[in-house]
Amino acid sequence: MKRAIGFKVLFAVLFSQLAWAGEILEYRFGPEVKEVVKHYDVIVIGSGGGTKLVRPVASLGYKVAIIEKGPLGGTCLNRGCIPSKMLIHAADVVRAIGEAHRFEVIPKENPEIAFSDLMKRVKATVDEESVSIAPLYDQNPNIDYFKGSCYFIEPKVIQIGNEKISADKILISVGAEPYIPEIKGLENVPYMTYEEALRLEKQPKKALVIGGGYIACELGYFYGALGTEVEFIVRSEFLRNEDKDVRAEFDRVFSERYTVHKGWRPIEVAYDQGIYLLTIEDSAGNRKTLDGDALCIFAGVKPCTETLGLENTHIATDERGFINVDDRLKTSQEGVWSLGDCIGQHLFRHSANFQGEYLFRTLYGDANDEPIVYPPMPHAVFSYPQVGSVGKTEDELIKEGADYVVGLNHYKNSAMGMALRSEHGFVKLLFDRESKKLIGAHVIGDEASNMVHMLIAFMSMNATIDDLLNMIYIHPALPEIVRNAARKAKANF
Ligand SMILES: Cc1cc2nc3c(=O)[nH]c(=O)nc-3n(C[C@H](O)[C@H](O)[C@H](O)COP(=O)(O)OP(=O)(O)OC[C@H]3O[C@@H](n4cnc5c(N)ncnc54)[C@H](O)[C@@H]3O)c2cc1C
Repeated sequence: MKRAIGFKVLFAVLFSQLAWAGEILEYRFGPEVKEVVKHYDVIVIGSGGGTKLVRPVASLGYKVAIIEKGPLGGTCLNRGCIPSKMLIHAADVVRAIGEAHRFEVIPKENPEIAFSDLMKRVKATVDEESVSIAPLYDQNPNIDYFKGSCYFIEPKVIQIGNEKISADKILISVGAEPYIPEIKGLENVPYMTYEEALRLEKQPKKALVIGGGYIACELGYFYGALGTEVEFIVRSEFLRNEDKDVRAEFDRVFSERYTVHKGWRPIEVAYDQGIYLLTIEDSAGNRKTLDGDALCIFAGVKPCTETLGLENTHIATDERGFINVDDRLKTSQEGVWSLGDCIGQHLFRHSANFQGEYLFRTLYGDANDEPIVYPPMPHAVFSYPQVGSVGKTEDELIKEGADYVVGLNHYKNSAMGMALRSEHGFVKLLFDRESKKLIGAHVIGDEASNMVHMLIAFMSMNATIDDLLNMIYIHPALPEIVRNAARKAKANF
């Protein structure tokens, strides 16, 4: 027995940091040799924005493990930005055909929507992109791809399937998943989240959409434009984080197109033979029951941290489960960083990418240990009307007691707006009165997600109102609306 233990100790001492076949295996032992923990330079959990640190780090010669429980590519590719925008483009086409008569173009027949073909094409495109990622990992001797759901069993040790792995550096980029509000009876009902709604094969006739955030406004618009009757149940208001004028304009246009139950919340649901009966209640306690053949829960997201075993680490979260990080994206556990939706700061793919690139520079590049500095963080809502926004909202400036100047110009007051026969939309600019710098820009209307880009550039370069006015705008392009909003602001200084 003594000889056996002696042999194990010798074995462990000799091989505890053994470099074998290019991988470092850490042998852990106590009274008995217990387990093998495979050791990496870096482990990345989640294949969204975290992938910014997979192939680039591996190309420097480091050993990288990437763990993904779902399809590679994360939410954006598989069930977020990309499939939703592919579908919404189809919705834009259908809407344009529906409005063709406003331009003296009379379609001979009503368009036929090949719904199932559209969904199949989008699914096939994103699935093909996703499956093309694994071979890139398999071909790289420095990358190990683990498929499955993982969790921490110790501060720096992760269980993935039957394996335990650890690393010098661990990056948590587990993203977010649909938030499901409490509704009596929901557990017995086959409801849809955005995950199912982006892959549905049969178009519903009437959809009940719970939620008023951008996912609800985008996917509700998609189904509505394709001919599904859509009813929205919105607890407070649509797009409640947008600027107040944008919210009001969006609400006005959207509510003309769809039935909206604003100020109502769902309390109970039943399902029988393909029909949902949803009871909703307002703040005064009044109740009504809605029916539909699809129930869409688009009520936002929550971080995927519940089953991550964070209780076995020193990683702190806020009360909603978002991981706390400092200004270097460090968690409260030494050697563990976090990025993307699961830190709850800016829940966009371009933000997760920016954070991933920052971590690559600071951990593996020449940027040392500088804090992350975000340039102005823009976003868009790809609905109808479309919204593009960057910087402060007027609501925030009022709250801060800031001294600011507003310039707002409607699409219809521009040459291109006349050509488009715009009945809604504007550009709203907010400037700091003293420095004259652009501090907020909000566009609602055609091409808003593109229009806002010139304002992102101006703001990123600390431009003033004079910079906006001192350039020549192409006549009669839509950005003339930006110039005219700036002219109106100038008059208000
Ligand atoms: C319908 C919809 C439309 C959207 N449209 C846009 C848009 O137009 N523009 C935009 O910027 N953003 C959009 N977003 C948001 C965008 O998708 C997210 O902000 C982005 O994907 C976040 O990236 P991430 O890396 O943080 O997380 P993710 O991309 O979600 O990646 C996290 C990955 O971690 C995996 N994972 C989670 N837990 C574990 C575990 N325990 N073990 C192993 N793997 C795990 C998940 O399977 C997931 O693949 C949209 C989202 C939705 C839902």
